[in-house]
Amino acid sequence: MNVTLNVFEELKGILKDEQVTMNETILQQHSKDESYHTPHTPDIVVYPESSAEVREIVKVADKHGVPIVPFGVGSSLEGHVIPYDKGITIDFTLMNKILEVREKDFLVKVQPGVTRMQLNKELKKYGLFFSVDPGADATLGGMAATNASGTTSVRYGVMRDQVRDLEVVLPDGEIIHTGNMAQKSSSGYNLNSLFVGSEGTLGCITELTLKVFGIPEHIVAGRASFPTVDDAVAAVVSTLQAGVPIARVELVDEISIRQTNLYNETTYEEQPTLFLEFHGNEPGLKHDVEFTKEIVADHGCKEIAFEEDNAARNKLWEARHTLAYAFIHGHPGRKQMVTDVCVPITELAGAIKHARNTMDELGLNGGLLGHVGDGNYHAIVMIDLNDEEELWKADRLNEDIVEYALARGGTCTGEHGVGIGKMKYQEREHGKALQVMEKIKLALDPKEIMNPHKLIHLKK
Ligand SMILES: Cc1cc2nc3c(=O)[nH]c(=O)nc-3n(C[C@H](O)[C@H](O)[C@H](O)COP(=O)(O)OP(=O)(O)OC[C@H]3O[C@@H](n4cnc5c(N)ncnc54)[C@H](O)[C@@H]3O)c2cc1C
Repeated sequence: MNVTLNVFEELKGILKDEQVTMNETILQQHSKDESYHTPHTPDIVVYPESSAEVREIVKVADKHGVPIVPFGVGSSLEGHVIPYDKGITIDFTLMNKILEVREKDFLVKVQPGVTRMQLNKELKKYGLFFSVDPGADATLGGMAATNASGTTSVRYGVMRDQVRDLEVVLPDGEIIHTGNMAQKSSSGYNLNSLFVGSEGTLGCITELTLKVFGIPEHIVAGRASFPTVDDAVAAVVSTLQAGVPIARVELVDEISIRQTNLYNETTYEEQPTLFLEFHGNEPGLKHDVEFTKEIVADHGCKEIAFEEDNAARNKLWEARHTLAYAFIHGHPGRKQMVTDVCVPITELAGAIKHARNTMDELGLNGGLLGHVGDGNYHAIVMIDLNDEEELWKADRLNEDIVEYALARGGTCTGEHGVGIGKMKYQEREHGKALQVMEKIKLALDPKEIMNPHKLIHLKK
């Protein structure tokens, strides 16, 4: 019997029949993410229901030296979940329980397959919310594994800031906890931070304890349009420098607004636009809003509209959150290539201008958008995978944008992660620190079974 069939039989001894499959359709579903990276099927897909089952699966893989790829909903954008070395994909869909809401500690314990929207629906009953909101309804396991962020990170922080503790099944089947429930700790190395962003290369996250927040008493959202992207970015920098405690500030350029209008049937002015949100109490917010109006006016803001009504606010943020899907919908048959650099805030205007010039020079038609309050922006281009010249141009754009960011103290990925797409920049970005990462990988996963050849490539 070959190794795969052996492994399949052993897994069937641990799991129920419906939890382990080699069905071709299911293998295909686990062969890709939401990016343009080439798909590749795993040998086997498993659906564990508990940490104990994950441990048994990992032990089988360890025994046979078979690769494991953890899988949330596959919304990542750099080929993270594509099993190029085949093996077992562990799909966490069935580990989707909210285990405990510690309302007064502002903490929640969840299994990794819980999605952010599922969690927020439950937390609403307690007057709480979970702040990190990537565009997709991703799993919390996947979001921790990629150190995801979103529109509210400028105020509440990224995924790494929310994780108090993770339960992790290591590549040899040991189960550890990386933290605790205390608000702060000076005890030991910071393993929470190590495992957050490790992209399934060091172990499987089987439980998360996360920080949550009280739903703000009052929320005001707004839309401000500007003559140029430069003016919009300068307005963001001035707002942050003035100390306005803005909760969300998102840039959407004119091309992206056009896509939004087509997809969401909105009639927003097709100009570079900032989507803004303020959280707090009513008198405080009045002051913040008035101050922001003055600042944006100084930067040539042509139109600013504020919404306090829940439905109008939701419509505004739905337009922002569905932007990637608006591009996909508007370009049938094409795949999206999204860049993801993050730069110091003072370098942002130059970085965005450089990106637009490079797109124009290459003759690529795409949009610019991003979580500009964090210095993180994306260029989205829709490419025809059969057109080699277009593929080359998209790669070239990505490279130019990354080079520009790295030369100015930025990073090749602000939130999407490394996967396979950003591996080529790791040495340039981290220098000798990359060797430290390789040593950590080697110490924890010497057989390189956990999501092999992603993020780190051990030079054997
Ligand atoms: C339309 C759209 C908009 C997006 N917007 C944003 C955004 O604003 N911000 C942002 O950060 N990202 C964004 N993303 C990217 C993506 O949603 C995030 O990277 C997200 O965190 C991935 O979660 P997932 O559940 O889909 O994980 P997957 O894609 O399934 O997996 C991602 C990585 O995590 C690992 N992993 C998954 N589960 C576990 C686990 N339990 N244990 C260990 N490793 C695990 C996988 O092996 C893989 O390496 C967007 C994607 C799309 C399609």
